[in-house]
Amino acid sequence: MDVAYGAEDEAFRQELTDWLDEHLPPFLEAWSDEDEDGGTSTRDGLLAHMERRRAWQRELATGRWAAIGWPAEWGGREATVTQNVIYSETMARYRTPGIYNANGLWQIGPMIIRWGTDEQKQRWVPNIHDAVDHWCQGFSEPEAGSDLANLRTLAVRDGDHYVLDGQKTWCSSAQLARWGLFLVRTDPAAIAEGRKHDGITALIVDLHTPGITVRPIRDLTGDETFCDVFFDGARIPVADRLGGDGEGWLVAMGTLGSERVGTAGLAIGMRSDLDAMVSLARSVNPAALDDPDLRARIADAHTRIEYTKLLNYRALSKILRNERNWPEVPLAKLQWSYLAQTLAELAVDLLGPSALAAKGSDHAVDGGAWNRLYVFQRYTSIGAGTTEVQKNIIADKALKMPRR
Ligand SMILES: Cc1cc2nc3c(=O)[nH]c(=O)nc-3n(C[C@H](O)[C@H](O)[C@H](O)COP(=O)(O)OP(=O)(O)OC[C@H]3O[C@@H](n4cnc5c(N)ncnc54)[C@H](O)[C@@H]3O)c2cc1C
Repeated sequence: MDVAYGAEDEAFRQELTDWLDEHLPPFLEAWSDEDEDGGTSTRDGLLAHMERRRAWQRELATGRWAAIGWPAEWGGREATVTQNVIYSETMARYRTPGIYNANGLWQIGPMIIRWGTDEQKQRWVPNIHDAVDHWCQGFSEPEAGSDLANLRTLAVRDGDHYVLDGQKTWCSSAQLARWGLFLVRTDPAAIAEGRKHDGITALIVDLHTPGITVRPIRDLTGDETFCDVFFDGARIPVADRLGGDGEGWLVAMGTLGSERVGTAGLAIGMRSDLDAMVSLARSVNPAALDDPDLRARIADAHTRIEYTKLLNYRALSKILRNERNWPEVPLAKLQWSYLAQTLAELAVDLLGPSALAAKGSDHAVDGGAWNRLYVFQRYTSIGAGTTEVQKNIIADKALKMPRR
């Protein structure tokens, strides 16, 4: 494993840190953390919460730091894999605010650049880059999650339009979105004929189209962060199709592949979280730091975070050598979800009973943030590929275990 960075990469890091040193402090002064704490249990709360993120994404966009992997003509820097790692590590180290539209910047934008016509690019790429509208991703359905190719939302061609009927689910922040990239079934015979990856088409959908209903789902934190989306005869222009008719699986695999790029700095972010919770415990529940069991858990978490960092570096050096990065990528996903949940559990034990008090309680620590995190981190073993599916991949591709 070679973890040394070259001179060009160090120059990239320097340019980024110089920019952050200049732009982040005034931003944090203008937008306090509380601006992001609007509460996401209502649409208004979620909108308020997102305005700070929109402002930060726009600030990044002015410095060409919003979408570094994109081509220069669309505001990017054509960053290499190594530069992407440096970027996510640096952003984690600086604990920068969240961005407005990760789905748009990391997945949908790159796919429009890859698959879109010139007209589609002109119409939508700047919109995503500059955080003009919010975008969502509509892939999952009640019967199509891990087995995504089982999707059945029907799109029937009628002249210059597709007519859509069916249901999508778990669409993150769709209640805020004007646009979404949706996968629909244009060849319904394909499933019965055992070729379910065929006959899927990718459409860019204007969520204000008549015949579309977006219904937020309240999750176990009490917030509404994702939605069901119902189609009832919605007419979507054929001109808004991304890629060819029936090419949706190819388009989708491209977007899911892009998801991994943003994860390299997670270990560094987790190290900052661990440091933050230990230092908070010193003031709100100092006795916890004398507990031998808790001390062992802190040391264990610290060790695993360092190990995860090395795992990410090993994946990176394999990618740079053009080798397959089995089993590092699925292992890193497993490690991330394990650590996210372990840290959230450790936090509430370290911070004492008040850490379990929710937002709104007089006793809540950090406005109930640790309570929310404790519940919310359950999602990490489902999103971006479930734990069981990652284990299947490791068994199949890395360990080459026999199939029954
Ligand atoms: C926070 C969050 C945000 C999301 N945002 C979006 C979004 O914006 N757009 C979108 O389209 N989707 C989104 N999703 C949905 C996500 O992609 C799905 O939840 C995921 O693909 C799993 O599908 P599922 O929920 O239908 O579970 P299922 O696939 O039904 O799985 C149920 C259980 O069965 C297990 N299982 C499934 N298949 C196998 C197998 N072959 N072997 C062993 N075990 C198996 C799973 O591990 C799981 O434990 C989001 C999910 C979360 C949690």
